This record gives sequence, structure tokens and C-alpha cells, in this order.
Amino acid sequence: MRFDILSILPGVLASPLQEGIISRAIKATKAEIEIHNIRDFTTDKHSTTDDRPYGGGEGMVLKVEPIAATLEHVTRLHGPGRVIMLSPQGPVYTQKKAEQLAELDHLILLCGRYEGVDSRAVELFVDEELSIGDFILTGGELAAMILVDSIIRLLPGVLGCADSAVHDTFSRNLLKHPQYTRPRTYDGLEVPEVLLTGDHQAISDWRFLASVRQTLQRRPELFRVVEFSQAEKKLLSRHGLLGEIERLVLKGEE
Ligand code: SAM
Repeated sequence: MRFDILSILPGVLASPLQEGIISRAIKATKAEIEIHNIRDFTTDKHSTTDDRPYGGGEGMVLKVEPIAATLEHVTRLHGPGRVIMLSPQGPVYTQKKAEQLAELDHLILLCGRYEGVDSRAVELFVDEELSIGDFILTGGELAAMILVDSIIRLLPGVLGCADSAVHDTFSRNLLKHPQYTRPRTYDGLEVPEVLLTGDHQAISDWRFLASVRQTLQRRPELFRVVEFSQAEKKLLSRHGLLGEIERLVLKGEE
């Protein structure tokens, strides 16, 4: 999968690509990432990427022409891709969206700065805007990296243990069960006994129930979109959890 990232501060993007799973995925050519400095595509002698907003007011706005020239360069060399602008005004990015984007083979990510980007660039070139949450960053670079990181780990062969993406929090709208590693006792707290039994079915049931309880406690609204198998429903019912979940689902439907 190919990512082209357009930014006026490309240095902000460098280090997340040099560490861990993302760097390994790049080395293994599962993902190709190129960062483009929008400033390199300016034509005036001051390399101007931004200007004051028409109508007055605070801040600066990224100019449309250098963005257009950078996009033209990217598509000429690498073909068209889905153009996403990172923006607090877009719909909020989710794991489901990451899964959809991981199916594509070319993403072009446009990072805003200052007051944002000239609206004509958005109208003409951007396929969709995405926000990483209801807060304001100084620029789109860290948000772009959040997309890159969450998408790359879903690409086939990127995670060492393929299962770990399947059982992640949100992969089926349940929070993941609590995890433990050695030592068995720490500061008086014991690892749950069942995890030491080696009984795969009992461990799997415990993890499922712990995951459901964790979700009920922290993110009950997620149950509006979770579906359970008959076997899971039986297990939930045996542990007195099914009624509570059904009430939450009904509440969501109201
Ligand atoms: N003035 C803009 C507004 O009120 O909507 C905010 C501009 S923000 C300071 C500069 C840039 O950071 C945006 O153009 C966008 O690319 C990025 N950005 C800020 N918050 C973001 C968020 N929550 N999600 C994604 N990108 C964000």
C-alpha cells in the first residue's frame, strides 16, 4: 500500500516511520511512504505556502496553488489515490474506517496548518476529510500519522501474530479483556487463576466475559452495534449479563 503525505512541516513526520512495526513494514515493502514538502512546489522567490485570509481575521491559510502542484506531482509519478485531508471538521476516524482504508492501495494525505487550507483546494482535490477527535491540533501531521499507523498494522503480514489485530479493542466493538504477564503476584495483586490453568475453553470464556464487562463499564454505547453468536448469548445469560446488554441495545434503538 502506498501513502503520499503532503505537509509544510515534513520534519514532524519523520520519526514515527523510523521505529517499530511501521519501520519494519516499510523495510519489508508492505507499505511505501513518501513525504512531500509542499514548500518545494511553490514558484515565488520566498517559497510562500500561506497567506492572510480574505475578509480579515486571525491566522494564515495554506494557499491552493502549491497544494495543487504537489498533488499534480504525486499523481503524475504514482497515479491517482484517495485524497484525505486531516481536519477537525471531518467525521471522526474509527477502527472501521481504518479497515476500509486498508483495502485501498494508494492514499494521499493532506496536512493543514495555521487556520487551515484554502477551501478551494478542499473542493477541487479532496475526496474526504477525517478528524481524529473533537480537539484542535496545531497541524494535520500527527493526525496523518495516526491514520498511517492504524492502517499499516492491518495490512496482511505486518503484525507478527496475525490474530492480534482480529482480537483488538474495536475490531468487533468490544473493548479488549485485561492482560497480564509475569510476575504472578505483584503488590498483593494476583493474576486471575483461570489464566494459569491451561484450559483453553475456560480461558477463552473468561476473556470474552471480561471483555464484555469492561465494555459495559467503560463504553456501554458500543453494545448498540455488537452482535453475539448463540453460544456467546448462552454464556452471557449464564453469567447474568444478557439482560443488561439487551436493555442497552433497545435503548439505542429508541
Ligand atoms: N481553524 C481550524 C478550525 O477551526 O477548524 C483549525 C485549524 S488547525 C489549528 C490546523 C490543522 O490541523 C487543520 O487544518 C488540520 O489539518 C489539523 N487538525 C487540527 N485538529 C485536527 C483534528 N482533530 N483531526 C485532524 N486534523 C486536525
